[in-house]
Amino acid sequence: MRRRLPLENELMPYVAGFPPGQRWLVLAPHPDDELFGMGATLAEAVFRGLDVRVIIVTDGAAQGDATAREGEAQRAAASLGLPPPEFWRFGDRSLAAGDAKLVLALQDALERSKPDSVFVTAPVDLHPDHRALALALQRALRGRALRRLRLFPATWVVCYEIALPILPNLLVASARVGKPSAALDLRTRASSNFVPTIA
Ligand SMILES: [Zn+2]
Repeated sequence: MRRRLPLENELMPYVAGFPPGQRWLVLAPHPDDELFGMGATLAEAVFRGLDVRVIIVTDGAAQGDATAREGEAQRAAASLGLPPPEFWRFGDRSLAAGDAKLVLALQDALERSKPDSVFVTAPVDLHPDHRALALALQRALRGRALRRLRLFPATWVVCYEIALPILPNLLVASARVGKPSAALDLRTRASSNFVPTIA
């Protein structure tokens, strides 16, 4: 008997959902990825009273002034009602999945914040930093699980879309679209002389 191909609604959700957990850790390779990737979801998370921490991994200096971009990220977080992001200031366009310093920093962040869900760019993204961070997180979680399996509950990993459409298995609807729009305006104004590569 010939096996039928899956239908559309078996490949992609037709109903909105919401990521799990009360404690979220959001990893952004560059200042703005957290907004472009999941700004509306972050606004919804704040509305729902979730504990959301944002870490911005690189300084963003390859595509703008690092100090200005940090300031934009801080103002955007404040406009969404989030605590100030943590800035790690790794070199822009230099992230490597096997960088022990990065993997250790991720393990430390996981142990400090003990998130139910951790958000990261997709390992199939176009930008090399976005891919490297996703893969470094995999290493961090694997090493942490092997070393201290019993001390930590399972952590959800949620990949958000930036530079390449990904086939979603979770759609999020947010009624709080006004807030992320205001936050994104900060970035849009600063990007008027945007270069033709991905930030
Ligand atoms: Zn980026």
